[in-house]
Amino acid sequence: EYDAGGYMPVNIGDVLKGQYKVCRKLGWGHFSTVWLCKNLFEDGPMYVALKICKSAHMFAAVAQDEIKLLQETKTTDPNHPGYKHIVQMVDTFRLLSVNGIHTAISMEIMGPSLLHILIQSDFRGIHIDGVKKIIQQVLKGLTYLHDVCKIIHTDIKPENILIKVDQNYIRSIIGKTERFTELGLEMPRSYVTADCWVDRDRELKDSDEDILAKFEEQRGQSYPYDKFLIELTSFRERHSEPRLTSPMWVSPNIEIKIADLGNACWEDHHFSNEIQTRQYRALEVILGAGYSFPADIWSTGCMAFELATGEMLFSPKGDKDPSANLDHLCLIWETLGGIPQYITETGANVRQYFHNGRLKNIPESSLRVWKIEDVLVDKYKWKRVDAIPFAGFLESLVEPDPALRFTAAMALQSEWLMSKD
Ligand code: ADP
Ligand code: MG
Repeated sequence: EYDAGGYMPVNIGDVLKGQYKVCRKLGWGHFSTVWLCKNLFEDGPMYVALKICKSAHMFAAVAQDEIKLLQETKTTDPNHPGYKHIVQMVDTFRLLSVNGIHTAISMEIMGPSLLHILIQSDFRGIHIDGVKKIIQQVLKGLTYLHDVCKIIHTDIKPENILIKVDQNYIRSIIGKTERFTELGLEMPRSYVTADCWVDRDRELKDSDEDILAKFEEQRGQSYPYDKFLIELTSFRERHSEPRLTSPMWVSPNIEIKIADLGNACWEDHHFSNEIQTRQYRALEVILGAGYSFPADIWSTGCMAFELATGEMLFSPKGDKDPSANLDHLCLIWETLGGIPQYITETGANVRQYFHNGRLKNIPESSLRVWKIEDVLVDKYKWKRVDAIPFAGFLESLVEPDPALRFTAAMALQSEWLMSKD
């Protein structure tokens, strides 16, 4: 996709706009590549994430919408308690490449996403205190987006929630990159293709020093540390599955921000009828019954369950409609113990899936009601006393009626979030 209309070809070490020196690749999406850059001027943060969009017209237009939304969140009310939980834009400009004109957005630099954390947990989930801290901050960010900016995010999911990292850690990553340049060595492939927060080898959980010791033992001779680091990186390159470089992310002081306003829209100006990533898609969106802020709350509920258990609350089979929708609706029915009949009567798609308040062509006997509280106890072996308040909280977020669903502000006041134990 590095061709006309596509991604901008970027090399490590390039200086863009005469100001941003490219250090590492951070990630990529449908629309863009994102790079860790050093700001060579003293007019802003020293490190930024630079999102460089594909150049085709369509992508440029989407980028303009994203910039408008980011501008709104940047300027409306910096003193709001949720402001610091939205990844903020620093600057925006255009870049020229052989593939065309690319919109570039520099943003405050963040660390790995919650998806990285879930992977690191081997999909077993994270401690409930961590879940509380994270969800509280997500909800604060959403009160700002919803109540103040009138923006619907439309794509709340672990991938789009990023963890704040220490500037020193960023500096150490850059240090490694610069070491390669100094030594005149070729940059490891992962620095330009893979993402910054994953390592190539599962086995290598030991510290670099420990590995050096083993390495020396094997070779029966001592080894210069600098040279060893290079070897280590290429060794990790050659090996299997990714994992996080450091377990420090799930610290008790975890701070997160909501990222990727690339799909966001205005309360009074939607860009699409079909929003959200399948597993986090709200009931009203599936039913074609219109959507607003409550759709983000539904996704937040799904995400809270996933962070706590390591598994998705709803993972419908297939991705082709209508069968995926039907399976999704069955799962929602089973998890909530039914869907009120009046909800099944409004929406562009309801006739396709419901008849007289019942799921079409699905015999009652094939549905097995299994409510969240019981799932937590039976499947995840939670104590009933812990399962009850958490399930209660989740059910207020995945409430079928968007009008009755908790708002972000209400959820922040909920008993489960306020309780400390
Ligand atoms: P797209 O709209 O193309 O999906 P995203 O904004 O989701 O682009 O960014 C793609 C990836 O880049 C993210 O999943 C994340 O890994 C990384 N990323 C994005 N913004 C930042 C940031 N501010 N700091 C660090 N990494 C980021
Ligand atoms: Mg994205």
